[in-house]
Amino acid sequence: MTFLSVGIRFEANVEALNAVETTGNYSKHRRVPYLFYSPRDQEFKVIYVPALSGESLAHAYQEALVEEAKAVYGGSAPVCEECARGEFFKSMSDEYVKKKLAAVFSGSKPEDLLNDPVKVEEAILKSCLVEDIGGFLYAGKIPVKRTSRFQVSYALPVKRAALYSVTEPQLHARHAQLREVRDRSQREAASEQMIYYVETGTALYGFILNLDLSSIGISAVTGEQILKDEEIEKRRSVAARALFRLVSGRQFGAKLSRFFPVGDVVGVVVAETEHPFSVTSPIYWGSALATARRLRVLKEKFEEEVSLTVYDALEDISDLGEFDFVSIADTPEGALASVL
Ligand SMILES: [Zn+2]
Repeated sequence: MTFLSVGIRFEANVEALNAVETTGNYSKHRRVPYLFYSPRDQEFKVIYVPALSGESLAHAYQEALVEEAKAVYGGSAPVCEECARGEFFKSMSDEYVKKKLAAVFSGSKPEDLLNDPVKVEEAILKSCLVEDIGGFLYAGKIPVKRTSRFQVSYALPVKRAALYSVTEPQLHARHAQLREVRDRSQREAASEQMIYYVETGTALYGFILNLDLSSIGISAVTGEQILKDEEIEKRRSVAARALFRLVSGRQFGAKLSRFFPVGDVVGVVVAETEHPFSVTSPIYWGSALATARRLRVLKEKFEEEVSLTVYDALEDISDLGEFDFVSIADTPEGALASVL
């Protein structure tokens, strides 16, 4: 199966995963408008809730790609210098594309190939797995664009608990050493040791990550296969392993060194299909069951091979027993292992 869709739910108490701005000594958490149905007033309202951007999750996923590429390929991982450093501006200008053209087409002058989109894409794909999977935009005279093979949503509070999601500033103090403060000439420096506020969020979050394995190593310009079967197989494995690591290692978002979210991954839904399919958003209660019902229609009407693996620590998922393509896992890792 070639298309993966994963829905994740995680509980985070006191997190600072996504700050949007710092004003003076105050760093603000990202907040977004959120549609909410009020049963009491029987109407939809907009409330503001803490959130994590898709960019933040995508950055973390691409960092995981780099790490897993190293693990799978050893020293010869096809990852460019910039991506290896975690700087994912990718092959955006001549400077970076020329380097890749020179490495892949050693017989020609790179300048001569810059206006050939097919060659440009081939050079970038062969040189860098992160840009194969995560896409790039070369803004040359003739621009070349590759859409990301993975898609990721914002992480937003689960609807049922959205009203209880909050952001709250926490006061922190960075203390000056006492002898510095006693010395009059050092007082200026000591006053720089200041109090600061970090706005933290607390919520039960849900997000989706989709991964189109079928288009890895395939040209977005011509539709032709650029890489050998064996290489494509390896890259698919890197993509799946990175997905596992992202969720299992919880290495996404900012400020992990002092604000590592308190809580756990409480739900994982993994759908594998032959064509693009997205799991029902984990922000809805009952999303695993809804996903299974949708997949059953797909299976029956399109005679498509489908599979669904579910880990859920919050909901009663006994109704999933009636679906022959559903497996229940007893840990988040157990559910994620189905993609490896
Ligand atoms: Zn790269």
